[in-house]
Amino acid sequence: MKPKIWMSSPHMGGTEQQFVNEAFDTNWIAPLGPNVNGFEQDLELFLDQGSHVAALSSGTAGLHLGLVLLGVKQGDEVICQSMTFSATANPISYIGAKPVFVDSEKDTWNISHELLEVAIKDRLAKGITPRAIVPVHLYGMPAKMDEIMDIARHYQIPVLEDAAEALGSSINGRKCGTFGDIGVLSFNGNKIITTSGGGALVSAHSSVVKDARFLATQARDEAPHYQHSQIGYNYRMSNICAGIGRGQMQVIADRIKQRRSVYNRYVDHLGGISGIHFLHEPAGYFSNRWLTTVLIDKDEAGFTREDLRLALEKENIESRPLWKPMHMQPVFEGCTYYGDGTSEKLFETGLCLPSGSNLSNDDLERVLDVIDTFIK
Ligand SMILES: *Cc1c(COP(=O)(O)O)cnc(C)c1O
Repeated sequence: MKPKIWMSSPHMGGTEQQFVNEAFDTNWIAPLGPNVNGFEQDLELFLDQGSHVAALSSGTAGLHLGLVLLGVKQGDEVICQSMTFSATANPISYIGAKPVFVDSEKDTWNISHELLEVAIKDRLAKGITPRAIVPVHLYGMPAKMDEIMDIARHYQIPVLEDAAEALGSSINGRKCGTFGDIGVLSFNGNKIITTSGGGALVSAHSSVVKDARFLATQARDEAPHYQHSQIGYNYRMSNICAGIGRGQMQVIADRIKQRRSVYNRYVDHLGGISGIHFLHEPAGYFSNRWLTTVLIDKDEAGFTREDLRLALEKENIESRPLWKPMHMQPVFEGCTYYGDGTSEKLFETGLCLPSGSNLSNDDLERVLDVIDTFIK
């Protein structure tokens, strides 16, 4: 059996270990320290827009803190993109709030701003004001943030932007994570850069990020003893992990280039095949191409995405269906949903292909060969 080809695996740049060694040498083995501060500064510079950043233990922690900071309370409703990873929606449940799921649009596969407005109007007509909106940039493709923010401002509902998959993506040069009232990043092992596990909360307001750091370190009031007037969390990033992050930030531009070149290779090779469709960037949109995804139209192609997935699996190549929408998940059964079937169709026909920045040319050719043989 040939060695496994993964969809997306960690890709170190070289200097990560130096930052980690520094942490050992200076005994900063804690959820604070010079690497945490340095990593936050690296991210602030990269995101621009006057962003402030708090490094956290995970993207999920960032989403949870984001909802807390936006004032979401038990029993509130939060509008959430249905097509996403469960980590987008779970924190809504941590708070005891209720997710209201909204379907995707065809251009970006992210939340439809038209259905978003339908949902808001209908909730308001029922006497309920949604307390937050959570759009997601799936696979690195930016959601239609200008349209979403216009609607959010009009109805005065804050936006928590899940940019976990979209570090380095942008719309007209403005980076994902900086559009919402609060943005969230992830540095899990499979993301475009990794700290092994980790995340960050982003805001244009330094006071919001200060509050995030306070809540993330057990909400300790200023006092010589342990004094608390709020419920706190243990969500800060470790100085060890942040060292990995500092090394990764030195190569992020390359990582994006490499992911985009993997995408281009797939398009060059498979773009002409009837029934295989790629997700193109709308004008002004820039995707980090975290994962290359295809839609398989079985009538045109003569096979389904599951046929292709199994053919790849047989050759020890990992691929996966697109995210299964939250409104179809057993755990969210019975939740309110506004949709027109777009995300259901995407789930049924979509496949994520091996897309790592460390995918060698030989491995990529092996994947393409298996696809060629399968199609013949
Ligand atoms: C990875 C991911 C998260 C969660 O981030 P973690 O750092 O793994 O907690 C949230 N939302 C989306 C869309 C993700 O892909």
